[in-house]
Amino acid sequence: MHHNFLFDLDQTLLDFHASEYKALGIVLRSNGLSFSDAIYWAFRAYNKALWLELEKGTISRTELFTKRFQDVFSRCGAAAAGLDPLTVNDDFIRTMSVNGVLMDGALEFVARVKRNIPGARIYIASNGATVNAKGRIASTGLDRYIDGLFISEDIGVTKPDAAFFDICLERIGEPKSSCIMIGDSLSSDMLGAKNASLDSVWFMPSGNIEEAVKAYGITYCASSFDELFEILKKWSSGRCEAAGRPQRFMPRMMER
Ligand SMILES: [Mg+2]
Repeated sequence: MHHNFLFDLDQTLLDFHASEYKALGIVLRSNGLSFSDAIYWAFRAYNKALWLELEKGTISRTELFTKRFQDVFSRCGAAAAGLDPLTVNDDFIRTMSVNGVLMDGALEFVARVKRNIPGARIYIASNGATVNAKGRIASTGLDRYIDGLFISEDIGVTKPDAAFFDICLERIGEPKSSCIMIGDSLSSDMLGAKNASLDSVWFMPSGNIEEAVKAYGITYCASSFDELFEILKKWSSGRCEAAGRPQRFMPRMMER
């Protein structure tokens, strides 16, 4: 049996916002427009508002894609005249999908896990579009260390639904006790692990940590890749020592 590590992707191993920033810069410049931090922050804020509208059903996907670039164009002045927002949007999505950006130290971390934890398997468990996740993973070299991808678009269910994890477990083909979920999000990763009765590591915790640990039944917290490595190593060796009998660790925080 292996130690099956299920990693969230964005803001855990890859930096989604850094990719977005990079892709927006590339696409605007290639269309003869200027790019600045102010344009990026305006894009990010408006984009977020539009996604909320989409979730409420008040706008369509096409409207979202059109509006977000109409807004960018309005900030770029005369140079944007004649550009088609949907064409630029397609270009942006394509550019982003091949411009993954790693979280600082993520590649070294996954290499260390593979090298130092015998039987470690690394899976990605992410909500989002398959093409975008696959392209960004491949563009960073992370794919060399990954044993499998579970992307919600493929699976047909999203985290935190327990059904998402049921499908992951079925494909992994090993018992629940061999799996642990690692991620930054309380509402998808930690709640998902709780719903599926999996051990969990809350990566880069913030806010009222103790309250969240209780509410979401979080097993561990890690504030750096070094801490995360130590937790996974210990969790794995604990499982080996306990071979033949089920063992659960007492919920605890990593000592600082
Ligand atoms: Mg995340």
